[in-house]
Amino acid sequence: FLDPNYIRNRIRTVPDWPEPGVLFRDITPLLQDPRSFRVLIELFVYRYMNQRLDLVAGIDARGFIVGSVIAHELNLGFVPVRKKGKLPFDTIVEQYQLEYGSASVEMHADAVRPGQRVLLVDDLVATGGTMLAGMKLLQRLGANVVEAAAVIELPRLGGAQAIREQGLNLYTVCQFE
Ligand code: IMP
Repeated sequence: FLDPNYIRNRIRTVPDWPEPGVLFRDITPLLQDPRSFRVLIELFVYRYMNQRLDLVAGIDARGFIVGSVIAHELNLGFVPVRKKGKLPFDTIVEQYQLEYGSASVEMHADAVRPGQRVLLVDDLVATGGTMLAGMKLLQRLGANVVEAAAVIELPRLGGAQAIREQGLNLYTVCQFE
């Protein structure tokens, strides 16, 4: 029942989006189907139900969809890691490099208390830059980042390795070469 291939088979690959040469992995068919959405969430819930977590942090925007449901199912709070300029209160910002240019993610300064055990969630890990920026924000707030979790990993882009080199384990449900 909790078969990762069940999830993998419902991810759509869109060629040349958002630019020529890119194969975009699209989780919207997976979310649209109630059974596969539930299987996805249960894979995470069974992994984390005995991990004594305090919070789930989800990354803007698809990490919100998956992360908030995991938080709700585990009876945990949810905090957003947002793209810069969206949060109204006092924030901390982390800038990171993209293939061309840079991006920034932001959290509320009071989102996490020191020592809280946090799971960091996004939909997909490519180079790992986004996940690592989220990890740094959480660590600056004193969080204990227990694991990074995503639906999809693109192993050829080296994200899992980059994340592990920073001392954080990455769990992903499925991989696309
Ligand atoms: P990274 O920072 O290089 O690991 O890229 C991961 C971030 O880019 C995540 O927030 C993803 O949502 C987004 N992303 C990159 N490629 C894809 C894709 O093929 N499908 C969905 N999201 C993607």
